[in-house]
Amino acid sequence: MVFNVERIREDFPILKRQVNGKPLVYLDNAATSQTPQQVIDVIVDYYSNYNANIHRGVHSLSQEATDAYEQARIKIQNHFNAQHPYEIIFTSGTTHGINLVANGFASLLVKGDEIIVSALEHHSNIVPWQMLCEKTGATLKVIPMNLEGELVLSEYDALLNENTKLVFVNHISNALGTINPIEQIINKAHSVGAAVLIDGAQACPHLKPDVQQLDVDFYVCSAHKICGPTGIGMLYGKEEWLKKLPPYQGGGEMIAEVSFEKTTYADLPHKFEAGTPNVCGGIAFGAAVDYMNKIGFENIAKYENGLLEYATIELLQIEGLKIYGTSTNKTSVISFNVNNIHPYDLGTLLDKMGIALRTGHHCAQPIMDFYKIPGTVRASFMFYNTKEEIDVFVAALKKSIMMLS
Ligand SMILES: *Cc1c(COP(=O)(O)O)cnc(C)c1O
Repeated sequence: MVFNVERIREDFPILKRQVNGKPLVYLDNAATSQTPQQVIDVIVDYYSNYNANIHRGVHSLSQEATDAYEQARIKIQNHFNAQHPYEIIFTSGTTHGINLVANGFASLLVKGDEIIVSALEHHSNIVPWQMLCEKTGATLKVIPMNLEGELVLSEYDALLNENTKLVFVNHISNALGTINPIEQIINKAHSVGAAVLIDGAQACPHLKPDVQQLDVDFYVCSAHKICGPTGIGMLYGKEEWLKKLPPYQGGGEMIAEVSFEKTTYADLPHKFEAGTPNVCGGIAFGAAVDYMNKIGFENIAKYENGLLEYATIELLQIEGLKIYGTSTNKTSVISFNVNNIHPYDLGTLLDKMGIALRTGHHCAQPIMDFYKIPGTVRASFMFYNTKEEIDVFVAALKKSIMMLS
């Protein structure tokens, strides 16, 4: 497909909206992406034509819904190049996937074991491990970061040893946009026999991970960051690991046989999908993956890199503006502050001018502590943003700075 941003923008009804009397300029894509009509149509079609509970009904609607849901799993399997469809577990999102793995490891870890996380993590990737350490007596180690917002791999080497059981790193930092060298991180972890979970929430909108090539043990993401609905995501796990982990929640769908003496668990993936799942969400997740692939990840990367470069140059012309996260290997996220204007004040004024972006600590307080700042303003771009929008944003930012200085 030829990449035509004006044509693509037609797919997103929300982009035609006005906010506070101004055309919406949506630059909060790292928090959630917008939904194209193609995905909205799939959701409407599901509830209009074949809404039913799955895997248990003999009737036609139930079978249609089951087929569509399992088809979506296969789409997602193919997208991530997993070896088997049952290595894809539907979750409610990244946070759920991480908790599922953390909970499973509670029965595998003992006192003295070590878990490594990175200084660039989202809160959802810190708290579950702290809870796991409290439960098991394992200790948490942290790979430090440098001023550019990159992980210091030599320090990682020093943390690894035969007690390391798990390593958890995000593929791309949501606060700074840094792309982490996960291939190296995974290989080094495996050399001491540790398992690796990668948080792909921020990577999946921009690139197409190949879980077999990465040789990663677990990989998680959320559909709402790749043009799908909220409340659905996936956990990829290598078959051997998913077999080893105990179920996360008990309930319907996840059992093979139940008696009061003993319950045996269902096979993968159902062992981890207790209760009625988000059927419509799963199907729409599949549609979102189709949509992104139709645009093409090479096109997406090339176009977004152009936006990143353009916005970076424009922003750096503003006096007193400082960008946090200056790695040469980053995606289309720009975190910044201007002099000592509070990010919240800038965000509020920009909203009045129709510009949606994020201010605050971005669920990554340790990064803000590292830079000794309360937070940043974060503009994050998707393939449907334009250079014209960046111009509008930069002009509005200059105006806001004048009003606040
Ligand atoms: C958004 C995000 C999460 C959390 O995703 P949820 O959909 O809220 O569960 C975790 N990690 C990173 C890097 C994120 O960007």
